[in-house]
Amino acid sequence: MEVIHISAECYPVAKAGGLGDVVGALPKYQSQAGDYAKVVMPMYRTKFLYENDWITDFKGQTNMGNWFFEYTVIKEKTNKLGFDLYLIDIHGLTDREKIYGYDDDVERFTAFQIAFVNWLSTWEHKPDVIHCHDHHTALIPFMLQHCYQYRWMNDIPTVVTIHNAQYQGWMGWDKNYYIPAYDTWKSGLLEWAGTINPLASGIKCAWKVTTVSWSYLEELRSAANGLEALFEYEKGKCTGILNGIDYDVWNPQTDAMLNGKYTIKSVAAGKKKNKQAICKQFGLDANKPLTVFIGRLVGEKAADILPDAIAASIYGTDGAMNFFVLGSGDPAVEDRLRDLNNHFPHLYNSFIGYDEVLSHKLYAAADFLLMPSRVEPCGLNQMYAMRYGTVPMVRSTGGLIDTVVDMGDPDGFGIRFNHASVGDIVYSVQRAVSVYNDKKHMLWMRQHMMKLDHSWEGAVQQYRFMYQSLK
Ligand code: ADP
Repeated sequence: MEVIHISAECYPVAKAGGLGDVVGALPKYQSQAGDYAKVVMPMYRTKFLYENDWITDFKGQTNMGNWFFEYTVIKEKTNKLGFDLYLIDIHGLTDREKIYGYDDDVERFTAFQIAFVNWLSTWEHKPDVIHCHDHHTALIPFMLQHCYQYRWMNDIPTVVTIHNAQYQGWMGWDKNYYIPAYDTWKSGLLEWAGTINPLASGIKCAWKVTTVSWSYLEELRSAANGLEALFEYEKGKCTGILNGIDYDVWNPQTDAMLNGKYTIKSVAAGKKKNKQAICKQFGLDANKPLTVFIGRLVGEKAADILPDAIAASIYGTDGAMNFFVLGSGDPAVEDRLRDLNNHFPHLYNSFIGYDEVLSHKLYAAADFLLMPSRVEPCGLNQMYAMRYGTVPMVRSTGGLIDTVVDMGDPDGFGIRFNHASVGDIVYSVQRAVSVYNDKKHMLWMRQHMMKLDHSWEGAVQQYRFMYQSLK
């Protein structure tokens, strides 16, 4: 099967969060399982671009409304990532340092999608599936089915996977002319609540829609940032497939980024060594347990309550727990998290920024990983934590429900709470301190988690069944 993944992110080319991890791993494991998976993404000016060799695969020209542009498709030469990787360069639009955050993101991603469909129309064969990820690529099903120039390709099955329904790519109707010409009576397939809504359009027009966990799909019917009724209406074609994690990248036995590698057997000593190194580097107390938070400092992750929750937890446990935060996002939250250093110098520290290597070191060093998320479509952090023998302390939502069992339940290994509130976090931290002091129980939980299977193999099979159902 030839599967074309089209996405704004792909690790290690360009990553802002979980989407990048998934698109960097799923195609690799699909290729290993015998499918032919390719990834197509915009060409940003990232380190990966400059450090690798490329060949020009195609040069084309097309238009977005009355703006005519040229694009170039380049291909990575050596199949370094385990799949064919293509980048589309639209001079002046895609070739920037960051993935998102520009005033013209709507133009950037719309032009990228038009260029992709235009390029596809020159292929001598049709692929088996076009697999679109999130709103940045969710106009493609509409373009293939309804735009005059491209609808001869409407028999190519399309899948939209939703990694995050909070962001939908909204654009005003004044930008309707960007989209290649179509019958205006079909404009309802682009529309939701008065605007062009690419994610809604993808849900309406794709042959199948998947979310990255079952519980998230359930939640979307009652909380989908305005799309609730659409998820209810389209539930027949929606399914949840839980993400895996890339065991080649996330493996404490082989991870070169760690301060000490370890196995299931040597987990206690291995984690201690990693914790000592981190505590030394950041002035924390290695004799106490360590809770870390890693992630985007945004409302979805409940980062706004972190400063109060950490302060209250330190008071509520009489300073029995260390805390460390790695993240970036809302500047007000960043400031408050930096300021907290002054209040608890030997119990709390933070690194405000994005640091892939430090994240690996922290998953290995931590005893607990805090995720009080208000919304969590799947969540990869808790799975990385488990792989590294770190106990997840999570709010019961989305993919966290599907992957973490509270230690109070049979075979439980994690800590779950119901509300993104200071009170629930303090109570959970108190539970963490008490289980940390029960060395035998703690070791059992660590080893149990490390044995759990969160590899991609199962998800690859489920995606394949889904693709086959489209034939
Ligand atoms: P989301 O995609 O919503 O941000 P996920 O849990 O799916 O959340 O994925 C987050 C990914 O981003 C994980 O790989 C996590 O380790 C990484 N990450 C988030 N923030 C940072 C940061 N500041 N530094 C390093 N890695 C980070």
